[in-house]
Amino acid sequence: MAKEKKVEQITDMEVDFAQWFTDVCTKAELVDYSGVKGLFILRPYGYAIWENIQNILDKKFKELGHENVSMPMLIPESLLQKEKDHVEGFAPECAWVTMGGSEPLQEKLCIRPTSETLFCDHWSHVVHSWRDLPMKYNQWCSVLRWEKTTRPFLRGREFLWQEGHTLHATAQEAVEETLQMLEVYADLCENYLAMPVIRGNKTDKEKFAGAENTYTIECMMHDHKALQSGTSHYFGDGFARAFGITFSDKENKLSYPHQTSWGLSTRIIGGIIMTHGDNSGLVLPPAIAPIQVIVLPIAMHKPGVADKAQELVSRLKVAGLRVKGDFSDNSPGWKYAQYEMKGVPLRVEIGPRDMENGQCVAVLRTSGEKITVPLDELETRIPELLETVQSQMFDKAKSNLDSHTFVAHSLEEAKTLQEENGGFIKTMWCGDLACEMAMKEQAGMSSRCIPYAQEHLDDCCAVCGKPADKMIIWGVAY
Ligand code: ZN
Repeated sequence: MAKEKKVEQITDMEVDFAQWFTDVCTKAELVDYSGVKGLFILRPYGYAIWENIQNILDKKFKELGHENVSMPMLIPESLLQKEKDHVEGFAPECAWVTMGGSEPLQEKLCIRPTSETLFCDHWSHVVHSWRDLPMKYNQWCSVLRWEKTTRPFLRGREFLWQEGHTLHATAQEAVEETLQMLEVYADLCENYLAMPVIRGNKTDKEKFAGAENTYTIECMMHDHKALQSGTSHYFGDGFARAFGITFSDKENKLSYPHQTSWGLSTRIIGGIIMTHGDNSGLVLPPAIAPIQVIVLPIAMHKPGVADKAQELVSRLKVAGLRVKGDFSDNSPGWKYAQYEMKGVPLRVEIGPRDMENGQCVAVLRTSGEKITVPLDELETRIPELLETVQSQMFDKAKSNLDSHTFVAHSLEEAKTLQEENGGFIKTMWCGDLACEMAMKEQAGMSSRCIPYAQEHLDDCCAVCGKPADKMIIWGVAY
């Protein structure tokens, strides 16, 4: 007799959240470790999640008039150094190529940590007139940042992402683009990934190296820490000046164009895991789940069961769902645990008695609820149940966010709230870097964003007591 497959065990999230996360990443077969620290192998199931995210975003980018391009992966040192703030920001994380075969290179080459400099160099060749604008480019690629501590999805040295880069004739048009793309990310998170977001802009301290303004969406994880989930940057004309990109405007006057960039990476998969997962493993939003429905025949040796299960798989496929049947000889117990671990939103079981009654049983990954579905309603009821799972997931994440967002009126109060409950702390802020640093040093929290949705909590900065008119959100971030 074949050896029965064992159900994989994972650490409880309440015992050790970090270990739980790592367990889910490996046991749900999302990643494997490679021979180089911080470079992870995205296994087919993990890559399929990324592909589904890619498909959603790529379609939106194109609808909004962006074109995909491919830039080189190496940046000459001289090019990287053209924009002062940018090089200072990225220098500590750069990995360099110094040899070509056995010959030392005359100029060392940086493996791209991000590609602003490459886009700017290219644009300085091809942009001449207002007729050439706007340039609305995107590339899907991987980048390399030499991080010291690394974790799957959350902090890899190499990670997959998309980076959008656009160039516009006016500042207003570039700002509009920046905000529009942040909204694309917010829509992805809320309506596909079931992750509620807080939209806002970063402080000067936290903004992207070389940007005038960085806009962000911040999500709260199950452990109440923050994850910066997508950013969109407005550069003004700083890069254009540094790289000598000019165009003759409609009055035939030479001008500098205004620039944006925006990116979302495989880090978001870490966010999905930490927002929705539980002690049985991954829980995937149906909108991006590689397998939306797993069909399991019960008592498969009984006549007709396997055929009937196969028929359900075919019907659901025709209905446009991502569906799979498991006809292996593994025990039902193993199969339940396996597809729960993989976060499949819906399990559909069919056995001899169900067949007699013309029904199957659907089990929701979120609540474990079992729902009897008449077989002649399969094509309407199953998509409805997937919708239910999707909205249950959003509601749960939203209630986690709402119940762990607090108001504080002093640094001391903010610190106590963070220590006792974790989560996001809203306070007023005067805008001084010194107060931001004090919050970091004394309460262990960084500024997450200055939310679009402002509230007037009181008249003074929670840290220094000086007049303040901005509300800011603090948190402990991944
Ligand atoms: Zn202050």
